[in-house]
Amino acid sequence: MFLRDFLKEGSARLESLYPAPEAMNIMLMLCQERIGTSRYTHIVEPGYSVAEEALGQLTADLDMLSSGEPVQYVLGYSEFCGLRFKVGPGVLIPRPETEILCQEAIKACGGARDIRILDLCTGSGCIAWTMALKVPGATVVGVDLSDEAHSIATSQDFSKELEESGAKAPVFVKADVLDDPSSFGDSLFDLILSNPPYIKESEKAFMRTNVLDHEPSLALFVPDEDPLLFYRAIARWSGMLLAPGGTGITEINELLGVETRDLFSRQGFAEVSIIKDFYDKDRFVRYSGIAL
Ligand code: GLN
Repeated sequence: MFLRDFLKEGSARLESLYPAPEAMNIMLMLCQERIGTSRYTHIVEPGYSVAEEALGQLTADLDMLSSGEPVQYVLGYSEFCGLRFKVGPGVLIPRPETEILCQEAIKACGGARDIRILDLCTGSGCIAWTMALKVPGATVVGVDLSDEAHSIATSQDFSKELEESGAKAPVFVKADVLDDPSSFGDSLFDLILSNPPYIKESEKAFMRTNVLDHEPSLALFVPDEDPLLFYRAIARWSGMLLAPGGTGITEINELLGVETRDLFSRQGFAEVSIIKDFYDKDRFVRYSGIAL
């Protein structure tokens, strides 16, 4: 079968789930990963045929994609901050806006190396690993209560990057941020980061089925009656574990910017501010250690 026909038929199948350019993009990603073609192979080599032995795998992949399975789960990886992360249905697929959180966090390190970083609700570990690799010398701890998240986060393979940068791999701890951080004793962190669940149940009506039916609800949703429960928990953990002069940065629901900022101010944190995302939406709250 010609590659151009496979791409055309495949993207037509996906068009009931995705806008046409996104459907084609998914097909191109699939072929790039499975058979090593480039985004232009079907254009510059119209006679390029997909090898018979590759078709079985590609067809099975396409069946999964047309049932709404996100392409990152089908391929088993997702790009984040220029790094390739293993992902699977037990963890959220890293979102581009979360890269802003890492950029802000790297800025907050101000070039310091020997820095202690805590990432709450770490999921795939994308924030924890990015910080560990981009701030070599940092000691990074990632916390999540999910077994699946724990096994994915600990199995990320950045051995080459670790060796090149001399960075230390993050340590992943299983714990529920809704409980007290008692197991951390009196350890303190210079930076506390988090992308907790923040979408209200009632917002499900506006979400796409590929997210709703395939990504873990545990990582996404909070009850309508208490949408800030994770921020109260993050504030509690930060109150106990943020070093004097330390900074917290947390991703937030764009509809609850002011409420989330006020929650951190009320808890006594200093310099609490909102950071916007690429769409000019309230997306992060930054706070510093408890005001003395
Ligand atoms: N930003 C993610 C989404 O739109 C949600 C991430 C989260 O709940 N932490 O799906």
